[in-house]
Amino acid sequence: MSKINFNKEQLAVIEQIDNTIEASSLEAMFGRTIDDLSLDDLLSLLKIANALYRSSTQIVSDNIYDSYIAELKSREPSHPYLSTIEPEVTSDSKTVVLPKKMLSTDKAYSFDEIKRWIDRLLKAAKELDVNESNILIRVTPKLDGYAAYDDGKTLYTRGDGIRGQDITRAFTKGLKVAENGVRGLGPGEIVIKKSYFDAFLSDTFENSRNIQAAIIAEKKVDESIQKAINKGACVFFPFSLIENQTSHFKDILSDFDHIVEKIWNSVDYDIDGVILEVTNDVIKQHMGATRHHHRWQIAFKVNAESAEVKVLKVVPQTSRTGRISPVAELEPTKLSGATISRVTVHHYNMVKTNRVGPGAIVQLVRSGLVIPKIEKVIKGAEPELPDQCPSCHTHLIWEADHLVCPNKTDCPAQTENTLVHFFRTLANNDGFGPKVIEKLHLYSIKRIHEIYAIPKHQYLTFGFGDKTAQNLVDQLRASLEIEIEDWRFLAAFGVSRLAGGNCEKLLQHHSIVELFDLSVDDMVKVDGFANVSAEAIVEGLVNIREEFFKVYNLGFNLAVTPKRSEQVNTQSPIAGKIIVFTGTMTQGSRGDMEKHAKALGAKVAKSVTGKTSFLVTGEKVGENKINAAKDKGVEVMTESQYLSMISS
Ligand SMILES: [Zn+2]
Repeated sequence: MSKINFNKEQLAVIEQIDNTIEASSLEAMFGRTIDDLSLDDLLSLLKIANALYRSSTQIVSDNIYDSYIAELKSREPSHPYLSTIEPEVTSDSKTVVLPKKMLSTDKAYSFDEIKRWIDRLLKAAKELDVNESNILIRVTPKLDGYAAYDDGKTLYTRGDGIRGQDITRAFTKGLKVAENGVRGLGPGEIVIKKSYFDAFLSDTFENSRNIQAAIIAEKKVDESIQKAINKGACVFFPFSLIENQTSHFKDILSDFDHIVEKIWNSVDYDIDGVILEVTNDVIKQHMGATRHHHRWQIAFKVNAESAEVKVLKVVPQTSRTGRISPVAELEPTKLSGATISRVTVHHYNMVKTNRVGPGAIVQLVRSGLVIPKIEKVIKGAEPELPDQCPSCHTHLIWEADHLVCPNKTDCPAQTENTLVHFFRTLANNDGFGPKVIEKLHLYSIKRIHEIYAIPKHQYLTFGFGDKTAQNLVDQLRASLEIEIEDWRFLAAFGVSRLAGGNCEKLLQHHSIVELFDLSVDDMVKVDGFANVSAEAIVEGLVNIREEFFKVYNLGFNLAVTPKRSEQVNTQSPIAGKIIVFTGTMTQGSRGDMEKHAKALGAKVAKSVTGKTSFLVTGEKVGENKINAAKDKGVEVMTESQYLSMISS
């Protein structure tokens, strides 16, 4: 089909239906063959073609329109559009303007596209004079549910991104916000836990989309769906509360598959990709948006391939933390363009209960570049469970689902992997890979600070050549001199639950040295740390304390993470304000509201003073308290007034 040119009337109709799309790109889209259209393109075309038809300015023949519909049916047989074509387009009277535009997300299907996107970020950073070390990228699972927007009062469908429909009734039916979150957190998705769907709903419903449709429909929901809502298996998941990982862009580039895989497997919901976005507000503003999508954000999507493969044997490997990883050796199999001959099984309890032994047949799935994983065991076989650490032969013990080597002080595998992890995480030097570390370990070098103390002539006695020895000495000096972020340095010590993202969050509030004196109570005050993590981190820091300071005192060139207070989110209406919350909140816990307010750049105080900007009152707040605040010139507002203010 040849390229189309819209006339004036047609452009007016398009503008009314969807003004997030550029007319020129739409014209080009109509010109493409169906196979070249993404699902989103296809939907846009259907919507526009349908609207033009209805406004008597038909642009494609009925045949072509029908072929679009047929294509959508074949790609997504139960796509909501197929059942909602009429109401979406014709019931204009029932749509309302969304409080905020909901743009769509640009998509990438290859690592090369991601690299090009990062190049654009770097270009923007350069123009703005933003240091490369401050370019962090947040990676979030892309939930595959029903998109909606919650302003605290009303829940809207995404509609065309400008106008949607009021579906607040979903909350009236008892739908909760995920993670005990409050109402009013903006865009998100209505989703259903995969495990719950498989266990309780898959007999009745073909897929989770039918359930999402029922939740937002006007009529009462089926009893089994009501139960899923009541049990919290169906929720509205605001994007801001979804599990995520923030990494430096260099780590995204060097460890892309691994990071994507981790995020991909981090939630129990249907996912159709991961979203990458730059966190720096200045860069975001500079890059801005097209009418269709934000330029500072991109979705990485992949098409999964699977195969049934025979397990040859399962080999135990001791990790840095002492956990024993079961690695299944497979009959070599081609999947998504690569030959796969081994795959890590989640843990030994899985080996045991799912009988992943020699001769077992497993279904292997690989989504694009992501490391393959075992989707399910088709036919089990007697598993082999090791009773000794393959490295130090200590008797293994069970800790929850894992077999663990309890020898924390003298297990070669744990020692070597810890050292390798350190240098790999620093990522500013070369040479200290597994081979070199293994050799050093043979000569009883077990600690990081010991490596830094090795003089050149000693490398020669260890059997390294003169050139290699000089190179290793030079590399160590470089690792001290080249500037690295303090969060990366801390993450290199490999404390459990202290990977880069968490290190950075803590260092936004405390200096690296102060962290070692924090109590569990101090740590949970930092947004994003629950008690369990805080306890593990405090204990982990105690364990590395001595070694940490020996290494720290060697004089690394650390770039200090900017403190949170220095990078206030100036866009939010409460940025820089001092807020006191009082009384019982009805739309979520007070703790969550306080955390959210801090995230929007506000300071949260416990009691009202003359400096307080707002007093937000829940239920059961005494008249005296309110009057006292007003006397001090403090603006008093209810919970719902507050929620509508922050969502505006
Ligand atoms: Zn061991």
